[in-house]
Amino acid sequence: MAENRGLQALEANVIQKDLCAFCGACLSLCPYLRSWGGRWVKLHDCDLAEGRCYAYCPRTELDLDAIHSGLLGGPYEDLAMGPFRRVVMAQCTDPQVRQRAQTGGVVSALMSLALDAGWIDAAVLTRRGEDQLPEGYLVRKREEVLICAGSSYVAAPTLEALNRGPWNGDERIGVVAIPCQVQALAKMRLSALERKTPIDRIALIVGLFCTWALTYRPFMEFVRIRVQGVPIQKMDITPPPERLLKVHTHGDVWNIPLDEIRSFIPPTCGVCLDMTSEWADLSVGTVEGMEGWNTVVVRTERGEELFERAEKEGLLEIRQLPEANFQHLRDASLLKKRRALKALQERGELATGYLKLSQEAVQRILEDGTEAES
Ligand SMILES: Cc1cc2nc3c(=O)[nH]c(=O)nc-3n(C[C@H](O)[C@H](O)[C@H](O)COP(=O)(O)OP(=O)(O)OC[C@H]3O[C@@H](n4cnc5c(N)ncnc54)[C@H](O)[C@@H]3O)c2cc1C
Repeated sequence: MAENRGLQALEANVIQKDLCAFCGACLSLCPYLRSWGGRWVKLHDCDLAEGRCYAYCPRTELDLDAIHSGLLGGPYEDLAMGPFRRVVMAQCTDPQVRQRAQTGGVVSALMSLALDAGWIDAAVLTRRGEDQLPEGYLVRKREEVLICAGSSYVAAPTLEALNRGPWNGDERIGVVAIPCQVQALAKMRLSALERKTPIDRIALIVGLFCTWALTYRPFMEFVRIRVQGVPIQKMDITPPPERLLKVHTHGDVWNIPLDEIRSFIPPTCGVCLDMTSEWADLSVGTVEGMEGWNTVVVRTERGEELFERAEKEGLLEIRQLPEANFQHLRDASLLKKRRALKALQERGELATGYLKLSQEAVQRILEDGTEAES
């Protein structure tokens, strides 16, 4: 009998192994899978032999070599950070955007420009809903982009919003996504299964750097107890050396050391090989030690065009990234890969054919001696 590659396999190989990244790629593709209250929910069994839920999942087979040759037209060469044209630092020139944004507002500025200039008609972003629960959110106007500014450090089923729509006609779509979601988008683009989502109309992917994303329910229960049940307005994570979760309530800021929340990092983040959203058009993160500045990895031609236009229109200030920061980024990125490969090895997943990456590349990553703080 042929091997199942549908919901049954997704449950056995991902959900039951506690490897679901809760990216949303499998949700609302069919009537059976939904997100509810920060959880993956199965409403009904399905015995299809092959399903998009399994094909799109970033934690089912990951053929990195095929993604590189299929999407990028070349081999997987830069094992640290994936393909890029340049890496710089930038910030949005509008102080109002910066004030609402997580770091320097580059992501919100780029998505607003892409909508205003007609590059895209709509975008899939993530907003914090009631009780800080993050969810995918469709926007069509620049004002709506700002509603989503800021990071939720909780895993969000953002791609469920892409699957669900509703979409108007042939709208071109932008997506802001963390690495597991960018991987799912790459798998959607390469999948030979029937297209029922607007994956071919995605005209822009802005990826975020990500080391981990927390599991909503236990994390929120912990935070609520720590802030003594006072309603939470906002949460921030500060970079090293401070490394604090700052919880803002009315009139108070509660500082929680990052080590106290590490137990809410799900095992799936430990097997993720990507820190910088390698298959996005542009990837954006923070610049360590420089508050209010983003690191921007410009990867594709369309990413470069949008970024240059933002600079020309005075929306972004762009500066050279100091060499030490660039090196640190590469080291941190490689370290995430090495840790993930070791975790996959320990879980016996490398032997199952989960990862398709040349043996030589695997060895190069495993033998790299880089250590960086994360
Ligand atoms: C879970 C998570 C972990 C991260 N880890 C790191 C890290 O280790 N190192 C680092 O340098 N940067 C990390 N970042 C990125 C950083 O927090 C900022 O998003 C980035 O610097 C862009 O800043 P900005 O001011 O340009 O973004 P903004 O202009 O504020 O825009 C932020 C965008 O992020 C999207 N977003 C918010 N929460 C989520 C979510 N949970 N999932 C998907 N999209 C979301 C929103 O749609 C919004 O459009 C992480 C982000 C997330 C969401």
